[in-house]
Amino acid sequence: MTGAGSALADRLAQGTVLGAEGYVFELERRGYVKAGAYVPEAVVDFPDAVTELHREFLRAGADVMVALTYYAHRGKLRQVGRESELEAMNRQAVRLARQVAAEGGALVAGNVCNTWAYSPQDPASADVVRGMYTEQLGWAADEGIDFVIAETNDYLGEALIALEVSQELGLPAMVTLATTGPDQTWDGYGYVEACQILADRGAAVVGLNCDRGPATMLPLIARIRAQVGCAVAAQPVPYRTTEASPTMESLRAEGVNRVFPLALDPFSCTRFEMADFAVAARDLGVNYVGICCGAGPHHVRAMAEALGRTVPASKYSPSMDLHPILGTSASRQDRAVLDAWGVTH
Ligand SMILES: [Zn+2]
Repeated sequence: MTGAGSALADRLAQGTVLGAEGYVFELERRGYVKAGAYVPEAVVDFPDAVTELHREFLRAGADVMVALTYYAHRGKLRQVGRESELEAMNRQAVRLARQVAAEGGALVAGNVCNTWAYSPQDPASADVVRGMYTEQLGWAADEGIDFVIAETNDYLGEALIALEVSQELGLPAMVTLATTGPDQTWDGYGYVEACQILADRGAAVVGLNCDRGPATMLPLIARIRAQVGCAVAAQPVPYRTTEASPTMESLRAEGVNRVFPLALDPFSCTRFEMADFAVAARDLGVNYVGICCGAGPHHVRAMAEALGRTVPASKYSPSMDLHPILGTSASRQDRAVLDAWGVTH
């Protein structure tokens, strides 16, 4: 199914949909998720922390609350010794997302991602992945979601399984690929071709998320936009990737043993850069514009406002004219003070 007539299709028909993700990264920074495994244990251990982050993204203008079931699949929960809580974690994640979505009329998305269990050389691995997606999305559908976001799949084959399971449940799917390779999925499909195949198989939205920053995702998403007929999504990471280091995983810094994932801070995009990205993506015809790992609510609000919206958090948007040095009263400051702050006078 393509999702025609669905809540997602209705929202897309109204204009650009603003997404906000990166929950696992942000909750790790806040001390609620362990880096390495990146399993969203906070959903059951600290539900208030998850609810708060949902609410911050909602107030910043996100149109979709994504249930925090990223890496909440059987393989990962087994790895951290919590397999018995699999169903509870998945159901609770959808409940938290639904509760906050209702506060602002947002859509609710169920979420599955790459499993690390898939191998194109091993047909049996497809059955393992299908089993994990079926139970996760079955619980999500039961709790009540508007659509599925299947994301960060490095293999087209694995992404297609997520699409098929969504379709079996009668749910529209947005399928966005990882782009850790230079130009193709790890099972050998160019990113544009892979998106075309997903669109042909009935994905409601196709595109890319995570891995690449705005600078290296935009050229690729422009080619995808030009080649597929369905809606397109782009949710980059807010990091300054370059042609030489097109992904956050490939960023390098002198004197730093490993940048990804714990020392990315110096590469962070400002809110202004993410606002520019939102406008550029919208102007390319991208229908679902968002942000992934590294996102903060300040990025999302700036993106929403750049798209012409006033959102709940806009009440506290910057008014630099009120600043004692940078604002309108600056002329009353001592010249030496203004020089020290770099203020022209
Ligand atoms: Zn991400």
